Amino acid sequence: MALLRRRGTPLAVVFAGAVATILPDADVVSFALHVPYGSTFGHRGFTHSIVFALLSSLALTLLFRKHFPYLFLCAISHPLLDALTNGGRGVALLSPFSNHRFFFPWRPIEVSPIGALDLGVLWSEARWIWVPVGVGLLVRALARRGRAAPLKTASPTKPAPSAASDTPGR
Ligand SMILES: [Zn+2]
Repeated sequence: MALLRRRGTPLAVVFAGAVATILPDADVVSFALHVPYGSTFGHRGFTHSIVFALLSSLALTLLFRKHFPYLFLCAISHPLLDALTNGGRGVALLSPFSNHRFFFPWRPIEVSPIGALDLGVLWSEARWIWVPVGVGLLVRALARRGRAAPLKTASPTKPAPSAASDTPGR
């Protein structure tokens, strides 16, 4: 979790980002309500749209008064990643203006069966999402650490300060 936190980003905002990424799949309740899959309020319908990502991230931004770009990226990441899966229907990115379901032409991620745990799906998500994200965050953290604490080199022109010079004057 520490890798996800930028300096000054409260843990509550990081948690809100996680909520924003999960929220679109609350539409699975539509199956229990017998809403047709392909309708605007069916699975991968309106809750997987750009408008919904804007609305949900704006609502979360009101709680924290800032962090909109981070929260929007979290919210929109869900439908974009769903559009990279190899099953189900596409995502209604342009809902409510259009109910067309979109997929990317390249769909390497195994679709997750609703309500079931499949190790093949978990491996696919790990390989295409979690490992690249983890490597990216690790590289970013190492780059920041490198910037924050540059290597100390001895200066040939300046003598090293003595212990006496570190003591405050009277
Ligand atoms: Zn989804």
